[in-house]
Amino acid sequence: MSVLNVENPACMQDDEINMFQDAVNRFYERHASPETTEQWRQNHMSDLDIWKHAGEAGLLCASIPMEYGGSGGDFRHEVVIIENSIKHDAGGFGITLHNAILAPYILLHGTEEQKQRWLPRLATGELRGAIAMSEPGTGSDLSAVRTTAVKDGDDYVINGQKTFISNGQVANLICVVTKTDTSAGSRGVSLMMVETEAAEGFRRGRILDKVGCESQDTSELFFEDVRVPKENLLGLEEGKGFVQLMKELPKERLIIALQGIYAMEIALEHTVEYVKERKVFGQRVMDYQNTQFKLAECKTQATVAKVFTLHCLDLLMQGKLDDTMASMAKLHVSEAQGKLVDECLQLFGGYGYMNEYPIARLYRDARGQRIWGGTSEIMKLVISRSM
Ligand SMILES: Cc1cc2nc3c(=O)[nH]c(=O)nc-3n(C[C@H](O)[C@H](O)[C@H](O)COP(=O)(O)OP(=O)(O)OC[C@H]3O[C@@H](n4cnc5c(N)ncnc54)[C@H](O)[C@@H]3O)c2cc1C
Repeated sequence: MSVLNVENPACMQDDEINMFQDAVNRFYERHASPETTEQWRQNHMSDLDIWKHAGEAGLLCASIPMEYGGSGGDFRHEVVIIENSIKHDAGGFGITLHNAILAPYILLHGTEEQKQRWLPRLATGELRGAIAMSEPGTGSDLSAVRTTAVKDGDDYVINGQKTFISNGQVANLICVVTKTDTSAGSRGVSLMMVETEAAEGFRRGRILDKVGCESQDTSELFFEDVRVPKENLLGLEEGKGFVQLMKELPKERLIIALQGIYAMEIALEHTVEYVKERKVFGQRVMDYQNTQFKLAECKTQATVAKVFTLHCLDLLMQGKLDDTMASMAKLHVSEAQGKLVDECLQLFGGYGYMNEYPIARLYRDARGQRIWGGTSEIMKLVISRSM
């Protein structure tokens, strides 16, 4: 039993999910060992082999129906993958973005031909996905994107620049947020699917040097007169991109909250273990009342965050998770996570500041949680609109 003693919601208590949990854990033990993930950190990206292995193991497109080459699961299977990815420090392998964000865009909004064209190849790992929304000039306000897609005969011609794109080096199927009508604000946004190997004028920039998440290939992408066939407009209808993006936001915010609660749990476990070992002035750090009080606060925060997030998971599985609840989960967890890792690091003393200790990494990685997928300020805007 973990340090938090929070039971999984009823929707996760299922023999098939338990078996999947064991299989995914074994997969990560085998293909994302501490030595491997350290290598990814040095390289600032994972290697392509793991995509192939994950395809063979049925992990890619775990929640996509079998008729499109997926494993026929649902979001609970993605939750298992998310938990294992955090537990094994394997964030460099961007499977959650691929499985739980990119593939569902195609499943929900693609035409039958688009689903048949891309989903089976995403399930084998032949295609690896990314979503390119953010640009140097805009992130929070997606209606202000400047990348354009202009119709020219049977093609669209894409011009623009994206930044902060996860899976930016490994992805070869990128959902690019463009404007097909620059005068129509959010109603001019369209999602263009770019298969990069056939895309002349597409260029990957450098892997960005970040505060944390060093094994992730967050990159700049450049599009210069990139031609894609008109059949690559997701859903084949111009101006629907903003609505397509908004529909998926609650789930995307829940994913970040889930990543946060599992990271908090791990930070707490490492810290409890450390303070029970480390002695200062002749007694264990754990024996000081200050330590006990700090850890009591951390456990309370992490428990409250986990219970609320799992409640949101239950709502999502019932089709009832709205943007307000999901934004509260993302806001609360990411803020609580930031405070918890800071308190935990303090209890390690100088060792907490050393990168060889996992708490240092958990501290660095936590900082981005309040930024990506919508900042805390944007979460507050969304929540305040519900009152
Ligand atoms: C590691 C990492 C990975 C990422 N991966 C991806 C990815 O795969 N794909 C992708 O498209 N993007 C990705 N992003 C981008 C991320 O989603 C954006 O950074 C985020 O949405 C914020 O946008 P911005 O950086 O442009 O900040 P800005 O929008 O410029 O915001 C700057 C500040 O202004 C505040 N602010 C903005 N609007 C308001 C408002 N209305 N009221 C009050 N305050 C406001 C913000 O909260 C923030 O504090 C990633 C970012 C990081 C760091």
